Amino acid sequence: MAAGASFIPENFDALIEKHGYKAIWKPAIVCECMEEGQPYIHCPLCHGSGYRYLAKKRIRVVSSSFTNEQALTIQGINEPGQAYITPERGVILGYRDKLDFYETTCKHSQTLTMGRKQTSSTYRPIVQVSYVMEGEHIYEENVDFVIDEGRHRLNWIDDATKPREGDKISILYITSPEYVITDMMHEFRSVRNNRGTTTPYAVEMPKQYLAKRLEFVYGETVNRKKEETKEEETKEELSYE
Ligand SMILES: [Zn+2]
Repeated sequence: MAAGASFIPENFDALIEKHGYKAIWKPAIVCECMEEGQPYIHCPLCHGSGYRYLAKKRIRVVSSSFTNEQALTIQGINEPGQAYITPERGVILGYRDKLDFYETTCKHSQTLTMGRKQTSSTYRPIVQVSYVMEGEHIYEENVDFVIDEGRHRLNWIDDATKPREGDKISILYITSPEYVITDMMHEFRSVRNNRGTTTPYAVEMPKQYLAKRLEFVYGETVNRKKEETKEEETKEELSYE
């Protein structure tokens, strides 16, 4: 929907309330290990990412596109890789901040390594397991394995079907998408508003940011090759039906 007149602050607030996604916002701060733009790979504080995360806050955001200076269009966050995000008024997002759209779901697929009783950790928390397989064998939840309490690992309950320690297995699961802020598109702008009043006044415009799905960003900045592998795996898994 377009909302040309919605830079009247109250209208914008109502729009956010009605169409906004609830998100958990984790503000980023540069880690003290950062030197000349490079993090220390084995840093125990940031695990080599160069950023640490401050206390979480719950906010509402809309996925937005500005067709021109005056029209804000609300969209769904369906794009696989990136979205434009406009938060509720008063929230200023920063570079590398994370947003977890915990009420939205998406599919994610990856490999896990079998340990003694438990698999290695998934990249994102598991809301629901769709498929777990090794070779041609499909494992069943509550028969072969259960999801660990922390929602990141599978605990094997049937010793007879347990993959060998060190084996790789594939998992396709439902999770919530997490985005990271990578650019600020319209951060410090205001418009002269003369609707409904005889005296035009300056209104702070909603801010717009570019956000990327986290797994894509990691691939780009940390390990390009890893991303390509992950995308290939995802395609293969998603077409396996
Ligand atoms: Zn660090």
